Amino acid sequence: MKHEELRSLVENRKEELIQLCCEMIRIPSVNPPGEMDEMISYLCAYLEKHGIQYEIKKGKETAPNIIARIGQKDGRVLLLNGHCDVVPVGNLEKWDFDPFCGEVRGGKILGRGTSDMKTGLAGLLFVMGLLADNQVALDGEVVLSIVPDEEVSGQFGTKWLVENGVIHGDACLIAEPTGSLNCEIGQKGCCWLKLTASGEPAHGSLAPFAGENAINRLLKVLNRIDTIRDIAPRYDDDTAIVMEKSRDMAKKLIQAKGAQHVLNHCTVNLGKISGGTKVNMVPDYAEAEIDIRLPIGVTCEMVEEQVIRILKESEVTGVTYSFCWQSEPNSTSAKEEIVEIVAGHVADIWGEPLARTYQWASSDARFFRYAGIPTLQYGPANLEGIHAYNETVDVQDVINAAKIYICTITDFLNGRK
Ligand SMILES: [Zn+2]
Repeated sequence: MKHEELRSLVENRKEELIQLCCEMIRIPSVNPPGEMDEMISYLCAYLEKHGIQYEIKKGKETAPNIIARIGQKDGRVLLLNGHCDVVPVGNLEKWDFDPFCGEVRGGKILGRGTSDMKTGLAGLLFVMGLLADNQVALDGEVVLSIVPDEEVSGQFGTKWLVENGVIHGDACLIAEPTGSLNCEIGQKGCCWLKLTASGEPAHGSLAPFAGENAINRLLKVLNRIDTIRDIAPRYDDDTAIVMEKSRDMAKKLIQAKGAQHVLNHCTVNLGKISGGTKVNMVPDYAEAEIDIRLPIGVTCEMVEEQVIRILKESEVTGVTYSFCWQSEPNSTSAKEEIVEIVAGHVADIWGEPLARTYQWASSDARFFRYAGIPTLQYGPANLEGIHAYNETVDVQDVINAAKIYICTITDFLNGRK
């Protein structure tokens, strides 16, 4: 089928797509707590209605993943992925509308999850339904994984599915929110560092002559911890081009002075600190937790080397470190076939080039990339409402994204025509 015909399949039934989006918004699949039963039954009913085969896979009882397939086993496999959970709404009084209204007003769909990422997921589901309903021949397989826990780290969703070999493929498209003219092909890594200081207790009235103050020891190290930001990332020229684009994007979106540096530097956030027992005691214990985000070109090992250096230069005893969480930065080449295909259809539909950028946050994309699967994120979004108030998405973005998805699937599996 030609691109034009595929796009008209979407165009002719676009009301159904928008209805699907609205109904998904009205099911409050907020995580935490992550009660997903209603959402999962709704999605399964949709798949059944279109005769799409699916199975439920659980890494743990409360985390059902849906794996839906169309096409045939010989040939390439294109993975599609999306999460059906949403973050909590926060202070309801800050919303101008009911976050679970799922209404269309002024060309926008309103509600929690419209951008992140129920309408992107709806687009993937909808085009699978269209391909199935119209019996469009595919020379390979489309495997859609719908996961319930991306917003709470994805341990029993995408991570579990990929690491246990439940899903594998030749490329992956995730419908995470990027906006219509941008796709994300890489993201920062993360090290959560914990520093623990011990001391010698004594009566507070005798300090500093008696005892060893654990808080003072910790502070000496913390005073130098920002030097982790000075690690210079190492990357090739192709990465440098994407990095420059990403810095421009960050500058535009974050609108804080120097925000573009977030992309190609480590960030260091001293997020938690505690210690001491009572004001008149010399503290024998203190600890701090630091969130360090690593740009592409910096590894967790490089961060650890710096932590060891800082401890040495601080010239204190009794301070040790550990990492509570680590993930490496990850990326897909800007020239990968899946990226080129999406870029071609964005140019066709929007008449403008697709920017390829890295993101400063992280997502489930990393689990596919760690498994060597080229992965990009592309999905409809109004970025300002994501994880905030008054989340919306433009109806036209949702429709155009679905058109891009359907053409991308057939190009990747049947060859570009
Ligand atoms: Zn998301």
